[in-house]
Amino acid sequence: MKRFDWMQKEIRNLKGKGLFTNIRTLSSPQGAWLIVDNKKVLNFCSNNYLGLANHPKLKEAAQSAIKKYGVGPAAVRTIAGTMDLHNELEERIAKFKGAEAAITFQSGFAANLGTIPALVGKKDVVFSDELNHASIIDGCRLSGARVVRYIHCDPNHLEQVIKENEDTYEKAIIITDGVFSMDGDIAPLDRLQEIAEGYDILLAVDDAHGEGVLGKGGRGIVDHFNLHGKVDIEIGTFSKAFGVIGGIVAGNAIIIDWLKQRGRPFLFSSAMTPPDVAACIAAVDILESSTEYVDKLWKNAEYFKSEMSINGFDIGHSKTPITPIMLGDAPLAQNMSKDLFENGIFATPIGYPTVPKGKARIRVMISAAHSQEDLNQGLEKFIKSGKDLGII
Ligand code: PMP
Repeated sequence: MKRFDWMQKEIRNLKGKGLFTNIRTLSSPQGAWLIVDNKKVLNFCSNNYLGLANHPKLKEAAQSAIKKYGVGPAAVRTIAGTMDLHNELEERIAKFKGAEAAITFQSGFAANLGTIPALVGKKDVVFSDELNHASIIDGCRLSGARVVRYIHCDPNHLEQVIKENEDTYEKAIIITDGVFSMDGDIAPLDRLQEIAEGYDILLAVDDAHGEGVLGKGGRGIVDHFNLHGKVDIEIGTFSKAFGVIGGIVAGNAIIIDWLKQRGRPFLFSSAMTPPDVAACIAAVDILESSTEYVDKLWKNAEYFKSEMSINGFDIGHSKTPITPIMLGDAPLAQNMSKDLFENGIFATPIGYPTVPKGKARIRVMISAAHSQEDLNQGLEKFIKSGKDLGII
């Protein structure tokens, strides 16, 4: 049918360029080992940093919550969807992060879509790192504010564009990913904070890949830079290190109060489900009681990254467990991923639009769930594939 023609053409085009995303199917819980497309494989691409996605304590908490509260929230938070569990999670996560208050959303994506338009509008400006996550980009677009992009992780350029735009807006916000999800580098939050304070501009950081990873016991990027109370807005997710699902905004209490009045996904989309919320609380319990998982994550990541480098892979400039294998060419990334999968390793290729054109890669995600033996087995297969495909 004619009305579908353009999509068929676009899909053919994507396939021709090696940019069509083939979606594989899991039939096992998350962990170091998975069943993917009916095959047992060693997993190197989930965001399950601490291995909590299938943790017995989280599962128990979810099951008890189902017994007590059922499965669905049945309402948005402001009508009849706020259960005592939601309030408990918000108090616990604020305390964990050392913030005044917190609000939860249904996902990290929803947190960005809800937060940015609640804080800036048509007469305002967003100063945004040029490599910010898609959910920040979409939140900026929804806000209607003018977006001024600054050079990736470059505080001097940020200050320059702030000066250039002085007196052209009513309100402004600076927003950055904390840990950049495709490269694993860390925003210079200390410098950004000085600039934000100097110009009296709101500062927001998306800590999706920092919480559970950076800072004392995984308390996140604000803790990492010891900036408690100085970063207005910490956006985040329960879907990565916390192993569940849901979005967070922690920070200044006035902002959290305001988001409860004007954060549209909070007002117009149903609340997080009771089992999810209970599992998130159990994840906070685990992180507060021990640094064991965070320590193991870093030990595993440091070992894996150093072996990959020694063996000649270009792993970019990551400062975190995110380990990009830089390949450049999208079809090469697809070929390597296919080759790895045939050899029992699950590591998806990532190309445009998730990363800029010509910067395709395989993003390896290391987890505390990996044993030393898993890492060695993975390394052996990555090295073999790298040699077979002429990458190293
Ligand atoms: N922000 C960043 C930086 C992310 O990497 C992600 C996840 N891809 C999100 C937000 C969205 O989080 P969620 O999966 O909870 O929607």
